[in-house]
Amino acid sequence: MSKLPHIGTSIFTIMSKMAAEYNAINLSQGFPNFPVDERLTEIVARLAKEDVHQYTPMAGYPPLISKIAKLTLQSYGRSVDPETEILVTTGATQGIFTTIQAIVKDKDEVIILDPSYDSYEPNVLLSNGIPVRIPLNDDYTTNWDLVEKACNENTKMIIITNPHNPTGKILSLTDIEKLEAILEKFPNIILLSDEVYEYITFEQKHISVNTRELLRNRAVIASSFGKTFHVTGWKVGYLIAPEQLMYEIKKVHQFLVFSVNSLSQAAISEYLDIVSVDEISPFYQQKRDYFRALLSKSRFELMPCEGTYFQVVSYKAISNENDVDFCKRLITEHSVAAIPISTFYENSKDLRLIRFCFAKDNATLEKAAKRLCKI
Ligand code: GLN
Repeated sequence: MSKLPHIGTSIFTIMSKMAAEYNAINLSQGFPNFPVDERLTEIVARLAKEDVHQYTPMAGYPPLISKIAKLTLQSYGRSVDPETEILVTTGATQGIFTTIQAIVKDKDEVIILDPSYDSYEPNVLLSNGIPVRIPLNDDYTTNWDLVEKACNENTKMIIITNPHNPTGKILSLTDIEKLEAILEKFPNIILLSDEVYEYITFEQKHISVNTRELLRNRAVIASSFGKTFHVTGWKVGYLIAPEQLMYEIKKVHQFLVFSVNSLSQAAISEYLDIVSVDEISPFYQQKRDYFRALLSKSRFELMPCEGTYFQVVSYKAISNENDVDFCKRLITEHSVAAIPISTFYENSKDLRLIRFCFAKDNATLEKAAKRLCKI
């Protein structure tokens, strides 16, 4: 008896595995392939010889928690209480799961935008909640009227991803204001704001929920050092939430992981003293522009990319196949791996869109683009 009968293996696992089998360039699952900052690896090497190998306190390594508070103040002007409002998690994925487990109960409705990151819906189902999918508009803006119409006394949570995976869309000030109006009208709804790509944004300014008083008092915000510092395998992220919500989340966290890998937490804590998050967006903007310029000579049509390290493209001019089949053939015949966008939808659609990750060194991007331009 399955608890998730209609959920299979995550598309990221499937595509990365297939990419490895066929020795394809892996632009599917989102992770960087360039070396991490040597200053960070030096910190790890030194710390490995120090006394940082036992459990940290449940909520996280205290110096890291203080630095998260400092970063939040610097980036967003928000003062967070390190004692009660921050939790270090085993990646944002665990933070999101833990939040949903702690807050969503039997038959609670959770609004999930469509398309959305693949973990939200199974997380809600495992809490016996009811996922309510609201389609985004064709240009990936949010139809707030539809969101509002879906809200009722059973709605426990709205989940947003900003910047959005897979589309790279960033919520505008008008979007944020409309969301505020909905939360004002429905005082029991909690907001889960997945902001793991908060430091990878381009022309469009990212407005964090951290900067909005009404929202942040009702929100759990998920962040990711994996994304920000190019160390996705370290699985270190964090949550920020008001004390009462965080108290409930910590109850689940303590029995799920208890505490997060100590060496990684200590290393990130030191690294935060010497690195600036302001470097991340210009770094990825160059990669985005470079990859887009290379692909402009191909038959793929480039969709806008306002943030994240993902570029969505249409292959309408190339094939009529569905996107899963197309991605498989892209690996077997052209040795490049991508993610089919239909997998982010509740019901798969014939959109003929796929997602490439451009968090790669330039040589990899060039090699991949060369193959893609031949199709
Ligand atoms: N967030 C990553 C992506 O969108 C995947 C992470 C994972 O595989 N769990 O590609």
